[in-house]
Amino acid sequence: MQTARRHFASDNYAGICPEAWQALEESNRGHAPGYGDDPWTAEAADLLRETFEMECEVFFVFNGTAANSLSLASLGQSYHSVLCHETAHVETDECGAPEFFSNGMKVLTLAGADGKIDPAGIERLVKKRSDVHYPKPRAVSVTQATELGTVYSPTELKAIWARTKQLGLKLHMDGARFANAVASLGCKPREVTWEAGVDVLCFGGTKNGSPVGDAVVFFNRELAHEFDYRCKQSGQLASKMRFLSAPWVGMLKNGAWLRHAAQANAMAALLHDELVKLPELRLMFPRQANAVFIEMPPWLIVALRAAGWKFYTFIGQGGCRLMCAWDTTESDVRAFVADVKRLLVEAPRDIPVAATNHRKL
Ligand SMILES: *Cc1c(COP(=O)(O)O)cnc(C)c1O
Repeated sequence: MQTARRHFASDNYAGICPEAWQALEESNRGHAPGYGDDPWTAEAADLLRETFEMECEVFFVFNGTAANSLSLASLGQSYHSVLCHETAHVETDECGAPEFFSNGMKVLTLAGADGKIDPAGIERLVKKRSDVHYPKPRAVSVTQATELGTVYSPTELKAIWARTKQLGLKLHMDGARFANAVASLGCKPREVTWEAGVDVLCFGGTKNGSPVGDAVVFFNRELAHEFDYRCKQSGQLASKMRFLSAPWVGMLKNGAWLRHAAQANAMAALLHDELVKLPELRLMFPRQANAVFIEMPPWLIVALRAAGWKFYTFIGQGGCRLMCAWDTTESDVRAFVADVKRLLVEAPRDIPVAATNHRKL
């Protein structure tokens, strides 16, 4: 068995947080109805409604890809399109699942600084064509926090909403790291969701500390019509649903979701502050959530990997993503920084650089 060393590869490398684990254990006592008719699922849905301070419709699915693609499919027809940033998970990391589950809805991509899209870009892409030969724009998808570790402010989201409203588009949010965004902004969850026009949120639990199970939260309740059938048909209706929903109860009940996200963010902040002091490293994007994107010399990347550290390098030559999780500690950060400093002095600079650009978000 491998030792339990913590890495900076992804927040899904982390295990299950104590609160989710305990709720899971409690939900494992005796029998409960299947397919979501159990008290844990009801409580988790109620806690989400409390968290968002609104009577939203809630569904639990196995993962983020399912949450994103099924919720996007519910926003339109097969001849529609959804606009998102060119680095969006729905475009680059879901193997075409949004197109597949919507029977052909096309994902159209936009450029934008720091992983974010903006109202002008949305309008340009929508107005580019209005003929029947173009997949009709129907929705915009934003990722909060973004794939590049940045966060949309309530003001930015409201500006996007104002434009989507004008253009008759629905607003979808991929919140795989929603907790980190809320912890970073220090705002109420409602301020960056339904109060900013979000119709449906895919709320990620897995990267926040649960074992499995993301929530699809419809603030626009009409869009949830027959969503249960969509879940069932796509194999996303869990038979023993309580094991997807109970961890949410543990995470939401006493604010563990925000505490864990804040810890991950704080560790990323510390990592950022230490690494930006080093002249051979260059920060790539502002650090706003639980990731630090930093460019390192290729020989240093190789040396850090040889020293046993795992992290991803999928953004150009030398671009590294260092991701902190709910259980990342200050000593993890300090150990990594110490190795970086040591290797900047000691590592050989003339080693061949293997192509290591594979991704797992
Ligand atoms: C991890 C992640 C998801 C969900 O991925 P799954 O592996 O399907 O759970 C969705 N969006 C973003 C931005 C992610 O980082």
